[in-house]
Amino acid sequence: MLIQWYPGHMTKARREMAAAMPSQDVIIEVLDARMPGASSNPVVTELRADKPCIKVLSKSDIADPRVTEAWLRHFESGRAEGSGEQRGGPVLAVALSTEKPGEARAKIAELSRRLAPRSGPGKAVRAMIVGVPNVGKSTLINTLMNRVVATVGDKPAVTKAQQQVVLKSGMVLWDSPGLMWPKIEDEAGSLRLALAGSIPDTAIDYLNVAVFGAQLFLDRYADRLLARFKLTELPGTAEALLAEIGRRRGCLRSGGGIDLHKAAEILVHEFRSGGLGRISLEEPREISETGETSEAGEAPA
Ligand code: GDP
Repeated sequence: MLIQWYPGHMTKARREMAAAMPSQDVIIEVLDARMPGASSNPVVTELRADKPCIKVLSKSDIADPRVTEAWLRHFESGRAEGSGEQRGGPVLAVALSTEKPGEARAKIAELSRRLAPRSGPGKAVRAMIVGVPNVGKSTLINTLMNRVVATVGDKPAVTKAQQQVVLKSGMVLWDSPGLMWPKIEDEAGSLRLALAGSIPDTAIDYLNVAVFGAQLFLDRYADRLLARFKLTELPGTAEALLAEIGRRRGCLRSGGGIDLHKAAEILVHEFRSGGLGRISLEEPREISETGETSEAGEAPA
């Protein structure tokens, strides 16, 4: 196991979410558009059961638009993650970003109206926002409120109190009652979360994460690597790419060799800061490998 991060079990969060679920009309599940599978938690799918759901692909401004389109089609086709089966209640999916707050407010209002059977004059739609840490839940709540009400953190797992807010449209919005952890025991998913900064940096080995990222970028975004690091030709392996980045960016050890750890940090930072452009780490066809039935997220205390 490459990632050593055991944030605690989810028993309490699961219980609280189960208790809050029956009074909701719509579940708004926020997923990171760059990795909707890795940033999901099967407990949400299990607990929402037949409730209508809006899948929000957040941070779409930094994800690959072609891949985001594929995810939207995937979710709206009704296939559950990890299987080809129809499952659960109706799902509508939308890609949002902080760049277009007005669009986010309009889309959420429209999709909620379409999904919520109890909507109508005098009947507020009740929606609960759920998702693992760092996907952008607080940011979305602030956008929907059109002011700052929720704590936004650039670190995973910023704890905050449960809250309920009433939007101008009359919609009542609940913040998720507990922290739901991502599926950190799935190795590919963990590496995607680590690369994007959704697992604390203290828990990751930069070199492992960067080798994973380097291979993915070589396979799918080679042109970006060539442009960003001014390479004349593409190195054949992830390790060779890191060595080349180290050489070009002056990451030298005292003995004169290349400091691969420094090169790894540079690559990870370039990705996170958007230096490599809009990149997605996961496509719909890849999520069957993570499965959906495991007790993912139930990390040991
Ligand atoms: P939460 O833990 O799910 O509540 O996530 P936050 O709302 O605290 O957001 C986590 C990080 O993602 C913060 O650094 C946000 O600024 C960033 N973020 C949220 N939404 C977007 C978006 O649409 N685009 C980009 N580029 N970053 C976003």
